[in-house]
Amino acid sequence: MKLYNSLTKQVENFSPMNPGEVTMYTCGPTVYDYVTIGNYRTYMLGDILYRTLKYFDYPVKYIMNITDVGHLTGDNEGDADIGDDRMETSVKKEGKTAQEIADFYTKDFMKYFKVLNMKEPSKFTRATSYIDQMIELIVDLEDKGCTYQTEDGIYFDSSKYERYGQLSGLTSDSVMEGARVESTVRKKNPTDFALWKLSRGKEQRAQEWNSPWGVGFPGWHIECSAMCLEELGETVDIHVGGEDLKMIHHQNEIAQSESATGKKFVNYWVHGAFLQVDGGRMGKSLGNAYTMEDVVEKGFIPLSMRYFYLTAHYRSSLNFTWTALESAQNSLKKIYTLVSGYAEDPGAKVSVDYMSRFDAALNSDVNMPEALAVLWDLFKSDVSEESKVATVVEMDKVLGLRMSEHIGFEIPKDIQNMAATREEYRKAGIWDKADMLRRKIEEKGYVVEDHSSGMYRVKRKL
Ligand code: AMP
Ligand code: ZN
Repeated sequence: MKLYNSLTKQVENFSPMNPGEVTMYTCGPTVYDYVTIGNYRTYMLGDILYRTLKYFDYPVKYIMNITDVGHLTGDNEGDADIGDDRMETSVKKEGKTAQEIADFYTKDFMKYFKVLNMKEPSKFTRATSYIDQMIELIVDLEDKGCTYQTEDGIYFDSSKYERYGQLSGLTSDSVMEGARVESTVRKKNPTDFALWKLSRGKEQRAQEWNSPWGVGFPGWHIECSAMCLEELGETVDIHVGGEDLKMIHHQNEIAQSESATGKKFVNYWVHGAFLQVDGGRMGKSLGNAYTMEDVVEKGFIPLSMRYFYLTAHYRSSLNFTWTALESAQNSLKKIYTLVSGYAEDPGAKVSVDYMSRFDAALNSDVNMPEALAVLWDLFKSDVSEESKVATVVEMDKVLGLRMSEHIGFEIPKDIQNMAATREEYRKAGIWDKADMLRRKIEEKGYVVEDHSSGMYRVKRKL
């Protein structure tokens, strides 16, 4: 399998350290607010890689973290050590405890993670459950002479790590040019970063812990290093994140992890391009930071969003518009309608030609638009219906479009469409709309049966 590695800036042959267990980590959401459809694009990249590795028979240990502490707003301006703590801001705004805020947004994140049919990682790790490991890691770095203390915390001295800038291309000089005075006075080198921040004076933070340096909270970067080391060991095969994380967050993860262990931290860095909205940046202040809830409220089949994500290669930017989502939905509905007309035969074999083209697309830096093109070619081909069904089921292991659940219904197309839409509402827990469609289907003389296996069947009403 070929994969683009941001560290070497080359497409490389993926070769895991231990084929008996591939290790993979994705930087997950900061749960102080709703997760946007932009964030989900990056998690979809993680999901596609996870599914592809499994599809190629690698056992995978996949960790995704949940950042529930210590992610400061300064990272928007290139310095993750300044600004307000996102969680603390939400605590003040919403009048809830940090735990309540984190639980609420984590639950929402998980709900739509499932709705988008993303495979659950081996473990979701919450940063606040790894504070001891973070402190141990900082103590280790301190013992190795890689840190220094300022009045506001413990900092990593980037001049002690020779390869600093290998991933990001940033050096202290280049950072210096754009740096804010507030941060540069504190740090010895502009590329240094906080490992532990001290609570200020009598300030009572919603989240703070005792440490050898005093009461405070961890820096954002140390969280991912501590969770990776604890769960996956000193070297990880694949580390995934959005392209914005490459410059600072991931460079800092490398510097501190490698300084502590003396080993290479990550073999393959995979960064996904951003999702844009209406051709520009997506942002809360711009009012276009859409969520999956927005998608559902507008009446879309939620999996249309999954199809939409698959239409662009992960390293290309993807522009979200409601019209583009509509066209993705039309394609998905067409797929459901097509497969619903196919007869099933458990003994049928996959089409070797189309499967090998599909595999080639996955092997080529997980080229999902190409994989979708192969699926459409299969539909148009003269391969037998039974073999098409077998092939679609196999491809769906990676595409995750729930195509198998729509196969083989000799029922009129409008009813099929209504049942498919109802099924997606049901999966999303949008019961009122699901019930409304069930009634409509019944009015037209059909019934939907939900089976305990999670499948559904549409039948003529007797
Ligand atoms: P955050 O919750 O801000 O830490 O972001 C979580 C993940 O979403 C990170 O991997 C970011 O790189 C990624 N991300 C943020 N905005 C976008 C976007 N517009 N498109 C794709 N990924 C994004
Ligand atoms: Zn991270």
